[in-house]
Amino acid sequence: MKWKNKGHEFDNIAWDIAQNFKDKGKKIYIFGAGLLGEELRAIMEKTGCFAGFIDNNKKKQELGVNGIKVISLQKYLECGARGLVVITADRKNIPAITVQLDAVGLKEGKDFYEYQEFMKSVFPILSVYANDQVYIELAQICLTERCTLKCKKCAHGCYAVDIKSQDMSIKTAKESADYFFSHVDIINEFVLIGGEPFLYRDLDEIIQYIGKNYREKIVIFSITTNGTIMPDKETLDLCRKYKVTIRISDYSMTIRGLETKYRQLREKLENSHVPYTVSDKENQWMDYGFESVDRKGREKEMIQVFDKCKTPCREIRGSRYYYCVMARSVSDNLKLGIGKRDYLDLDGLKEGDKKILLEFQMGFSEKGYLDMCGHCHGSDAVKYPIPVAEQVQRI
Ligand code: SF4
Ligand code: SF4
Repeated sequence: MKWKNKGHEFDNIAWDIAQNFKDKGKKIYIFGAGLLGEELRAIMEKTGCFAGFIDNNKKKQELGVNGIKVISLQKYLECGARGLVVITADRKNIPAITVQLDAVGLKEGKDFYEYQEFMKSVFPILSVYANDQVYIELAQICLTERCTLKCKKCAHGCYAVDIKSQDMSIKTAKESADYFFSHVDIINEFVLIGGEPFLYRDLDEIIQYIGKNYREKIVIFSITTNGTIMPDKETLDLCRKYKVTIRISDYSMTIRGLETKYRQLREKLENSHVPYTVSDKENQWMDYGFESVDRKGREKEMIQVFDKCKTPCREIRGSRYYYCVMARSVSDNLKLGIGKRDYLDLDGLKEGDKKILLEFQMGFSEKGYLDMCGHCHGSDAVKYPIPVAEQVQRI
């Protein structure tokens, strides 16, 4: 979307929904005390908006969940509680819960929302207009573009990067965090990524720096790894200290021998009490088409592709805030020189420019697209499935 009224793009709708939220005491009740509900609770506790759980499950009402009280919808209505209700139930149960809320006179879009819609389109706006806080779902620092693997369709183009090339300096890595957190109040997930981040010489220093200065603003602090490098004790101690989750991308279906490495890594993480996740090995990748698509600069088409895409993957690099980490890294790593100015400079933003950052985050910019969208399938990439982590050359 092109900026037409920069800094005021949401004014028409935002003041109403912000007032509605204020009228409800700026409280969020989460309908569904399951895993998704717990994820949302972690975010809402950071914002100070969490009011309680509602659930139809009698056992949860009786025992609570992780020490948190759970009430029935009936009880919620009887005790005169007020707040916005956000449904975090299984997708298949959402229609029935919507009917249940309708039946007691609650209105969708005023009294309740479905989780995905709420977090994507409503909460970031509420956060700025009602709480004066910038909320971001996901952002990352690419500490290094070097990698121990050379995956053919790496969405960051890391296969083209020489293993001896220069990493981001620790000064720039720290500055990136400083710029980002001087404008952002709460982020759901802040990721240290690569390439392979465990190749980064100053990893301990940056974990410590972010952990010490900004951990309070982060719900999930994570490192994404391909699992080929075993972190040492110092790194693991810091991960435990600052509650860093290690996200292991499982490529063992394609690359022989990785299963053993993953097992060893998992054991080490468990013994060190460091939280971790392992991606689904059955996953497929998508080919974004960065090397084959060419829209020949057709602006209308690029705007359409960008508007449909809605990638959540922001990147901070010094003071430059990139909407799409893939666009920036593929252009740099393949030396395409495309979209060099496609970022928001946080250095130029003042304290009162929260709405500009919100708008950029939601897809507004001067052009309404990124130059790399002219070389990308965008959301249609799902139509081009490819095997996970096929290697350019033997490792
Ligand atoms: S493991 Fe593969 S996909 Fe991940 S950064 Fe390295 S080359 Fe890219
Ligand atoms: S369409 Fe544009 S924003 Fe979306 S992934 Fe491709 S380059 Fe990034």
